[in-house]
Amino acid sequence: MFKSVFIIILSFNFLFTHKSADFVMGSTFGLLPMAHTDKNDKLEMYANNKSIPDPIREVTLEALSHFPDLMDTRIDFEFKKKIGGSVMQAQPRVGSLVFKGKENRAYRIKISRYLELEDENIPIEELPHDVLLGWIGHELGHIQDYLNRSAVNLMGFGMKYYCSKSFVTEAEITADSYAVSHGLGEKIIATKNFVLNHERLPDDYKNKIRALYMSPGEILSLVEAQEEDEDEIAE
Ligand SMILES: [Zn+2]
Repeated sequence: MFKSVFIIILSFNFLFTHKSADFVMGSTFGLLPMAHTDKNDKLEMYANNKSIPDPIREVTLEALSHFPDLMDTRIDFEFKKKIGGSVMQAQPRVGSLVFKGKENRAYRIKISRYLELEDENIPIEELPHDVLLGWIGHELGHIQDYLNRSAVNLMGFGMKYYCSKSFVTEAEITADSYAVSHGLGEKIIATKNFVLNHERLPDDYKNKIRALYMSPGEILSLVEAQEEDEDEIAE
């Protein structure tokens, strides 16, 4: 009797998980459906004041779960056909900058609907789970950085971002550092490696990432420095 119940539960598990991205990665093998549902329920608490397209809902909530400061922050995740040379972009909503205080400011993260390779377009949700998690985590790192900036500072930030390469690099290092300090270091490295080693991503894009962003090695030393800090605190 017990055994057959177990088998039924196990086959339900297959029904529920066969579509999810982390099943493809093999990490949910052995989890019972209750555990999976629990995980989704737990993640739903991070959906407060967020709008998220369905295909990336779970991975986005997982990324948000690393940023408790953004729990009540209004963030709209929006699919776009094209974002001038980027795959994702995090911005404050201009209207909310002018009319609202820091606490009620709203942000949006634009996300390309497809990753454009040289020979095909891949729906963004088909990227490996860790890569997508790292990518969204990086964008949340930008928003974490925006949180405490004044409206005037943010408007200046937008202008400088378009005019100065060194300013872009600084902003990108800050976003990565926030993602690393919020526990997403390995995912950020997965994202960088995915981009830099991808054979069918356009060279223009890879060169841009090489020129302006931290390398996987630099991020790794950040992760290690952070782990050492944590060890010291633990001692
Ligand atoms: Zn960025």
